[in-house]
Amino acid sequence: MTSRNHQLFERAQQTIPGGVNSPVRAFRAVGGTPRFITRAAGPYFWDADDKKYIDYIGSWGPMILGHSHPAVVAAVQAAAATGMSYGAPTEAEIEMAELLCACLPSLEMVRLVSSGTEATMSAIRLARGFTGRHAIVKFEGCYHGHADSLLVKAGSGLLTFGNPTSAGVPPEFAQHTRVLAYNDPTQLETLFAEQGNQLACVIIEPIAGNMNLIRPNPDYMQRLRALCDEYGVVLIFDEVMTGFRVGPQGAQGHYGIRPDLTTLGKIIGGGMPVGAFGGRADIMQAIAPLGSVYQAGTLSGNPVAVAAGLTTLKLLQAPGFYAQLSQQTQSLINGLQSLAGKYGIAFSADAVGGMFGLYFSAQIPTTLAAVQASDIARFNRFFHLMLDGGVYFAPSAYEAGFVSIQHDEAVIAQTLTLAEQAFATLASA
Ligand code: PMP
Repeated sequence: MTSRNHQLFERAQQTIPGGVNSPVRAFRAVGGTPRFITRAAGPYFWDADDKKYIDYIGSWGPMILGHSHPAVVAAVQAAAATGMSYGAPTEAEIEMAELLCACLPSLEMVRLVSSGTEATMSAIRLARGFTGRHAIVKFEGCYHGHADSLLVKAGSGLLTFGNPTSAGVPPEFAQHTRVLAYNDPTQLETLFAEQGNQLACVIIEPIAGNMNLIRPNPDYMQRLRALCDEYGVVLIFDEVMTGFRVGPQGAQGHYGIRPDLTTLGKIIGGGMPVGAFGGRADIMQAIAPLGSVYQAGTLSGNPVAVAAGLTTLKLLQAPGFYAQLSQQTQSLINGLQSLAGKYGIAFSADAVGGMFGLYFSAQIPTTLAAVQASDIARFNRFFHLMLDGGVYFAPSAYEAGFVSIQHDEAVIAQTLTLAEQAFATLASA
């Protein structure tokens, strides 16, 4: 059934560690053979056996317009035809910076990089350089890319594989990283009371998506902002996933909180490698060549990548885009919830904008511990039942899912028909 995928996986493992270039792709948590993708269009992609799937990962977030959007493809082709990379500035980068700053009021200045990892790594260095302090704060289960000081009790693949702190990070590097439980106000108060004056920054996923989807309590977020103000700590919202995903102004718009710095990625590259960090001008001016915090990139602001990102961002400005995206995502999660209920399955689901979480637990989790206490084995069975039927959800109970504007009612209905069979099978098992 998956013969060509299987052959490719065998072959891949000879030269690529685990057969993949990013760990969660390997299906280690859910078992089975990863699907090797050959092409994609709209809400679908096809694997090496030419099996078609409804895609609910969308490259882990970027493909909000659906795959192979004609305007994005045309922009990329036109840019490539006039040069792949110059290593010198272009007007399109200014346009991109202006659009990002116009969309997110907290961005006064912004710099482009080539991945989310680079964005968070650079934002942290900047916060340290600006404040002259070493210590940083992150939250257990949040993933901010794979920079050393952030690979401590991290989410995503680290959580999925039960090894939340990476090997290869010297204790001396990690000793400056303080880790708090997400949504725990007591821990937050205690840390600030004891060490507030030594903290350079707090980095947070302002809606978490790397320990499945977890919303922060709004009061908790307000208190975090107030404490950072009180102690002169740079508040970094890592909106690599949530930026332009949960709404037009990301999670900061959703919660009405202005972070000092924001990191972006995924959607702003439209499927090409782009990241960004930006925020308060006084902080951003500490970066080279204006200031003494160094940060650079051979391919930063790459013209082909910027063409994809800029075209994507412009299309998101269409009136009603986010209302429609939210409505489609809601009909997916409401449908799943009611079908699970029909078959007596302990299941809940949540969504913000075009990002969703599925949990095999009766209540929507608000903590990492609650996600860990959900029925992960049942999720894994559900994942495979759906995959066999042609619906590709994230291959881990610790990841969020993504809906594109191309996931219309017919696509959602098809998903729900299949989910009904899957829930029925789970109920009878
Ligand atoms: N921050 C968050 C919140 C993310 O979700 C991710 C990637 N999933 C990153 C940072 C790292 O981005 P990248 O994989 O582009 O390096």
